[in-house]
Amino acid sequence: MSWHFLIWQAGTSWRHLLPPVEQETATLPTAARKRSPQRAALPAEPETATLPMAARKRSLQHAALPAEQETTPLPKAARKKSLQHAVLPAEPGINSPVDYVLPPAAYVHRKTAGDFPSYHVYSVSHKMETERKKRSMKEYFAFQWHITDDCDQRCKHCYIFSEDNCKIPESVSWDQMQEVVANCEDFCEVYHRLPYFYITGGDPILHPDFWWLLELLKSKNIPFAILGNPFHLDIKVCRRLKEYGCQKYQLSLDGMRQTHDWFRKPGSFDITLEKIDCLKQAGIRAVIMTTVSGKNIKEVPDIIDTVVEHKADVFAFARYCPTSEEKDTGISPMEYRELLGVCDKKFKEYEVAGCETFFNKKDHLWTLYEYETGEFKIPENAQEGMIYGGCNCGNCHLTILPNGDVYACRRVQNSKVSNVFEDRLADVWVCQMEQYREYDKFKKCAKCELKAWCRGCPAVASGAHSINGEPGDFYEADPQCWKEVV
Ligand code: SF4
Ligand code: SF4
Repeated sequence: MSWHFLIWQAGTSWRHLLPPVEQETATLPTAARKRSPQRAALPAEPETATLPMAARKRSLQHAALPAEQETTPLPKAARKKSLQHAVLPAEPGINSPVDYVLPPAAYVHRKTAGDFPSYHVYSVSHKMETERKKRSMKEYFAFQWHITDDCDQRCKHCYIFSEDNCKIPESVSWDQMQEVVANCEDFCEVYHRLPYFYITGGDPILHPDFWWLLELLKSKNIPFAILGNPFHLDIKVCRRLKEYGCQKYQLSLDGMRQTHDWFRKPGSFDITLEKIDCLKQAGIRAVIMTTVSGKNIKEVPDIIDTVVEHKADVFAFARYCPTSEEKDTGISPMEYRELLGVCDKKFKEYEVAGCETFFNKKDHLWTLYEYETGEFKIPENAQEGMIYGGCNCGNCHLTILPNGDVYACRRVQNSKVSNVFEDRLADVWVCQMEQYREYDKFKKCAKCELKAWCRGCPAVASGAHSINGEPGDFYEADPQCWKEVV
């Protein structure tokens, strides 16, 4: 019997069940294990030539990882039982139910002991285990990992520094980094997934152990992307990132020059555009993300023209999440619909012209837009009670903060579910995360025929419905959804 099928009592430290961290970091220099300035002297030319061929192949596949991986069909009933959503089908994006293999956590039983629920996982049957192993293709599970709050910017809409959330910036230590990676690997082992890290901050590159973390991920062939600032990138740094396996680097563009520099700092707009080419030269996909609010909504079409002109690999936008003080993104529902219409027209024109940029329709309200234009149709074989896509909360994503706090989504302000240094993520996923899978609780979406594919953005909804400075209900109506639901 493998160790993770042993009877498990929640609240007990999970670490003793894992192999010693040292075993997994044996490839790192001894000095790397100590938090010390030596790490700053990490060899500038990592030995990428030794990267095994299999890892390179995998790497290439990851580069082509489709956005649809986040919207794979999932049975609702199965989620209630446990974890089927952790075992996404091998071919993402298929709008049909899948034949699920129950993962071990399907055997989780809950009971209440005093104030604390406890969970017992029983050994999985031989038949089930054999069936599970037959599914050799694994899907990814995304861990958005904020390794530090350190940032030499103070962007006006940054949630890290909003509402005094972060008076003293925190950073994960080197030992803790190794613990986090081990906990995430354990999670993926249990649920038959491959880990994918989105390393972010603050500005993650400012973390003193940033390069050692990349070395650790490389040693384990774990793919990753970085969400960071442009200011510390140059061609040498970009090549080094590439050598460690960085697939994508996401930069923000929050308006045209004047607006963007007002949000961030003078010169930021030009530097951001300049770094697109720098990343591409190094072979890293340059992703540009815009956070749309009332302040910049009118500039989005010009931003699209600009990123296309600079040959960004991917462009996407998401809506600004109002803090509990503001309650407002400054965008009316119809104004937002109009924006989607303008962008859709531009995207299509650019696609016909053969532009290099891929337009990622990230906001789930795109589904509503395309439903109305006829581009999205509810599949005839869609089954009642299934969840086919939409908000990733509780489906294929977790966020980890520098202090170890685990969030269902970083943008949902009160969605802390655990701490990665105290709990085993594999347990958190079936226990604390259940509160984000109660789809019938959505106040508006529960009655909408698009519930299984959309659900808007609960982070924006809860921010917009805050009460007395406290974030509102996760299941509130999306303030930009223009659909009338009766
Ligand atoms: S009601 Fe909810 S599911 Fe329906 S379109 Fe609006 S946000 Fe999407
Ligand atoms: S709450 Fe919003 S930002 Fe978070 S996963 Fe859902 S749709 Fe994405």
